[in-house]
Amino acid sequence: MLPRRFLTFSLLVPTLLVFATAALASTAGGGVERMMIVFFISLTAVAGMGLYSGNSGILSFGHLSFMGLAAYASAVLTLPLQMKKLTLPNLPAFLADAHFDFLPAMILAVLFAMAVALLTGLIISRLEGSAATIATLALLIIVHGVIIGARDITRGSQSFFGVPRETGIWVAATVCIIALVVTRLFRDSVPGLRLRASREDPIAAGASGIGIKRERLLAWVLSAGLVALAGVALGHFLGAFSPKKFYFVDTFALLAMLIVGGMTTMTGAVVGAVTITVVTEVLRRLEGGVQLLGIQLPEVFGLTQIGIGLIILLVMFKQREGLAGIDEWDERILPRLLKFNSNAGQINTSVLEPTRSAGTLKADSLTKRFSGLVAVDQVSVSLRPGEILGLIGPNGSGKTTLLNMISGVLPVSSGGVRLGEKIISGLPVHRFSGLGIARTFQNIRLFERLSVRQNVLAAALSNWPREPVSQAQARATAALDWMELTDKAQLKADTLSYGDQRRVEIARALALGPNYLFLDEPAAGMNREETDALMQILRRLRDELGLGILIVDHDLPLIVSLCDRVTVLNEGQLIAEGTPEEVQSDPAVITAYLGRKHREENVA
Ligand code: ADP
Ligand code: MG
Repeated sequence: MLPRRFLTFSLLVPTLLVFATAALASTAGGGVERMMIVFFISLTAVAGMGLYSGNSGILSFGHLSFMGLAAYASAVLTLPLQMKKLTLPNLPAFLADAHFDFLPAMILAVLFAMAVALLTGLIISRLEGSAATIATLALLIIVHGVIIGARDITRGSQSFFGVPRETGIWVAATVCIIALVVTRLFRDSVPGLRLRASREDPIAAGASGIGIKRERLLAWVLSAGLVALAGVALGHFLGAFSPKKFYFVDTFALLAMLIVGGMTTMTGAVVGAVTITVVTEVLRRLEGGVQLLGIQLPEVFGLTQIGIGLIILLVMFKQREGLAGIDEWDERILPRLLKFNSNAGQINTSVLEPTRSAGTLKADSLTKRFSGLVAVDQVSVSLRPGEILGLIGPNGSGKTTLLNMISGVLPVSSGGVRLGEKIISGLPVHRFSGLGIARTFQNIRLFERLSVRQNVLAAALSNWPREPVSQAQARATAALDWMELTDKAQLKADTLSYGDQRRVEIARALALGPNYLFLDEPAAGMNREETDALMQILRRLRDELGLGILIVDHDLPLIVSLCDRVTVLNEGQLIAEGTPEEVQSDPAVITAYLGRKHREENVA
């Protein structure tokens, strides 16, 4: 998140640019002005679509339905009364007598589209990935059908005409600025950050307490509102339109802008709208056949569509995130120019002290079956605050599966997990962090395209929704400090070394203010020095914050020197538990774990 003064600056620049362009266009008048009006309206729609698709990572084909609904709603509300009697004789009474000015009609139309978005969003926001995308396509088709079917109100597939032409360059520019500002603010808001985290890695988001149903619905409704705004503006610019104006052809054109520019940013919306508008204007002129350097070029029908299609292909091949990439323009430029440090201020490490009093964590007779394979077979373990429990065993012995069950990432096949008196197995995964359980993953799962600090902050915002954001920021700062990542806070997570990435995962877990911390092979990919430093930190976390730590690792010397108790798994079964000394000299462990290791080493 940018400091507020930067955000203001980064909003002021596009605002001024849009107004300056509008001023130029209105001086130029004629075709240029009309082109710029359409451009601003398109940009409004694209920014609106990006608010949902960019943050959630779900492409939507359905947004033009909101554009259409709002255009028709506002048209019906503003149509002069005599005109209504003439062209829409069967209009329901409450609409037949209704007449509104442009602005109130616009507001009502946008609210109407948002209400429809709310209803459809209740279903669509529950779907994931391509299922959600297909649902949005269905929405487009259904709404198109409804508009055609509601003949008494919309004149069906015939042209709806006589809409007051209220949209000039200044209306279009204003609408555009509203869309850009809302999109940018949402991206940097708490719900925006949570959505983006979940877009990057839904499983890690869940384990970081990030449930996003509400955020997704909010994004859907807001983005529908912005696209609706574009719809109203378009309707009152054209003066006459039919349902096919809000169907596939225009969906394709706007999606092209979204994809080519990059859908995750406001900057991308602008870049995409400019690129596609320029290309369209050029190709449209070429399409009719022109004289170029004395040569008469032939007419090529469909050149515009083909050209746009090719540009999409090119961008997908060369730069999947779009021409503008994943960052806003100011995020690239300002930090370098101004060298701000968002970690400035005092670090208060005590904010990470667990605030809940946690009972003992008890996993009782846990079993996990994967169609036939029993990965974990009636294993019981317990963990208290202030102790480090090691979990060891050969590869494939079920350590990760056990940890996944205790942390709620995998449902148990049988058995149960209790925290104090409370049974917690069966709860949705994002509830576990609120109960004081945080974890890392064996295969690193970071929010890759977010900064280190955003990774940690997204988690820090999870468990106490009512506290001020500054408190979460203090927790994120402290967690970064604990893991010695303060210097790397502004870097993108996927640019770090393995060792650093593992520490970011631990920092993210710490920012949840947990009582229990589960670490799945945290030292994998670290060198000796990094491993020793990590061990030192883990001991301090136990001693200073009183955390209960469950650590899975292969490195036996590490486990022996670090842990208070050790549990050993082999082929899904618990074969030994006790102090490191007891376990080390247990014959079953020596055969299962060390024996096998010796065998493997001898073979190698
Ligand atoms: P460890 O972490 O001790 O190396 P795991 O818990 O990852 O072991 O795996 C235990 C066993 O369960 C292995 O045989 C593995 O192949 C199997 N397994 C793990 N996850 C799945 C899954 N999602 N589906 C099917 N089998 C799985
Ligand atoms: Mg494992």
